[in-house]
Amino acid sequence: MLSFVNFKSGSKGNSTLISNGKTNVIIDLGITKRCLTHELAALNLTLDNIDGVLFTHEHTDHLLPLSIGIFKNDKLYATQYTIKTITYNTVNYFLPFIIGSLKITPLETSHDAINPCGYLIEDTLSNESLVYLTDTGIIFEHLGEYILNRTYYILESNHNRKLLALNPNYPLFLKDRIMGDCGHLSNKEAALVLFKYTGDQTKLVALAHLSEENNSAEQALLDHAMFYFKMTKKKTFPYKLICLKQSETTNSAYL
Ligand SMILES: [Zn+2]
Ligand SMILES: [Zn+2]
Repeated sequence: MLSFVNFKSGSKGNSTLISNGKTNVIIDLGITKRCLTHELAALNLTLDNIDGVLFTHEHTDHLLPLSIGIFKNDKLYATQYTIKTITYNTVNYFLPFIIGSLKITPLETSHDAINPCGYLIEDTLSNESLVYLTDTGIIFEHLGEYILNRTYYILESNHNRKLLALNPNYPLFLKDRIMGDCGHLSNKEAALVLFKYTGDQTKLVALAHLSEENNSAEQALLDHAMFYFKMTKKKTFPYKLICLKQSETTNSAYL
């Protein structure tokens, strides 16, 4: 059985623990050592229990430079050039690798970073799997076979397009960046991804990297519900839909 614990999600920091009970990996380290050890202690884990740390890209909300030293280099996994100054395990798009009893496949994303990626994590001890995709302006069609009918999705649902477009605090160049192909997924774009790729194996979808200014949990859930109703005429999702939070832990075991 796979489970995840999200410590933080959003522009102020991202970090998620994924575990099958035997192998523990962390996706992104946009949090301090103090915060991480505190979160792990609450789960009866220590830093020694972490088998690998996977990075999606080099932006500091995902890769806090100070936090790189928390783990030995051989526990770090990222695409080429993502981490500067040290050597680490280099991963490639669509080339799976194994950490303990988890099979991990890097997925190509579209973002204004060097070699950004998401991850498909498959539990070799059960049939469960998890797709992690944030910080991407679009979801490439060629991800289809990798992200179809998975147990869990942690998917970016960054903004409501109208709220972003009308936000007087955001300059035009920033709006263009966020809405562009190398920016962030909107609620509606994320809803379309879920409509296309979730299936009868899907148990839980966690919307991630919500903008604090151009979105809210209520807005995101409303936008997703409206899109799903428009496409299916159904008022309830066949899976649990939740939003991850910027400053509160979300544990899939308690949902
Ligand atoms: Zn980010
Ligand atoms: Zn980013």
